[in-house]
Amino acid sequence: MNDSVFSLKWLVKPKEEMNIFLMVVFGFIAPQRPIFTDSTRVIKLYLCTVSKKVILMYKETKQRCWQRFLERTERVSEELFLSREQQLLSHVLLSISRFKFLASPRGKQLGGVEMSDRNLLIGDVEIVRIVDAIVDYPFPLDEFYPGVPVENWDPWRKEYPTTFATEKTHRLVYTCYVLRSAGQTILVDTGLGPAWAPLAVFWQQTNAARQAFQLLDELQSVGVRPEDVQMVFLTHLHPDHVGWNLLQENGQSRLTFPRARYVLHQADWEAFHTPEMQALLPFDYIGVHVTPLEHLGALELLIKDSDLAPGIAVIHTPGHMSVVISSKGQNAILVSDAFIHPAQITEPTWDCMFDVDKEMAQQTRRRLLERITADEAIVYVSHFPAPGIGRIVRRDQRYYWHAREE
Ligand SMILES: [Zn+2]
Repeated sequence: MNDSVFSLKWLVKPKEEMNIFLMVVFGFIAPQRPIFTDSTRVIKLYLCTVSKKVILMYKETKQRCWQRFLERTERVSEELFLSREQQLLSHVLLSISRFKFLASPRGKQLGGVEMSDRNLLIGDVEIVRIVDAIVDYPFPLDEFYPGVPVENWDPWRKEYPTTFATEKTHRLVYTCYVLRSAGQTILVDTGLGPAWAPLAVFWQQTNAARQAFQLLDELQSVGVRPEDVQMVFLTHLHPDHVGWNLLQENGQSRLTFPRARYVLHQADWEAFHTPEMQALLPFDYIGVHVTPLEHLGALELLIKDSDLAPGIAVIHTPGHMSVVISSKGQNAILVSDAFIHPAQITEPTWDCMFDVDKEMAQQTRRRLLERITADEAIVYVSHFPAPGIGRIVRRDQRYYWHAREE
């Protein structure tokens, strides 16, 4: 591995153009059936390990920021229907997360987050990993990956224990990315969304959301305000990738990122608005998160191969897209939902239940693996556990995921 690729320095040179290519890598994928059952409307809260330094910072600045925590916690609590005790706990958790940022020596440059935690430089392009949610999927593995016997997962349980919620179920991370270079800020995908988002409601009902609703806070932690985002790029229109597109205000939709163009592929826009596709969706999240983009004047559809902006080009086939970054001889590719689990890198025939065209999905995975290894590209993913960034190596005619060491 080339260590310089994982440099911790902030090296963006504003005059040099970001060189990002968008490549379509995947056919249609869509939910095939309603999948949720009722349960309690409570989200789990988990305590995290806190260093002495964080606690110290917390005490020192508690007074100054307390009001802000209260306001935010109240908002979140209302959304989640939290009990009094849960509200108190959430005060503590929110405080901890805030002071993690303050405790960092790089606070001035990047809102306080260590570059090594989730930032990566590819030439002059900075990739910042943003986790919106972590969800324990309720579907058994043999339903999630039809045709793959449960025992075939045994080696992967040992290899990637954090990708399993139980013996028979997955834990998926919902990841978005900020791309920054030459003064441009692009947000790739918008995650699960706020508590009222249709998918978020379902996950709360199934008690599946382990963490959620983090995108805006996570963006703030890396110094990105909503108005700083110039482009929201949507790899595809599944509900776990479009959730924070819009906010609700007095019953009206408004752009979460008010100055951004929302860029998606025309093929997805058209397909997800057909009655046939809508009938497959378990709820009308398209009407909530996507359709209003048009009348709000923020929608930009990719129609054919063309330059999107200086240094940004699009290669067009219908459906799902990846973002390929190429700068100063270094390459990185976002594979998004082409690979839901790292095991699929070694087993590209393991189709996920959301792959509509399974043959195309398998071909896509193989093609991607060949391209990634030929380009020696860094890979960043949508649903793997932290660090979510790594390389793919070929050994004995097979491919393997090598996660970046944290
Ligand atoms: Zn996804």
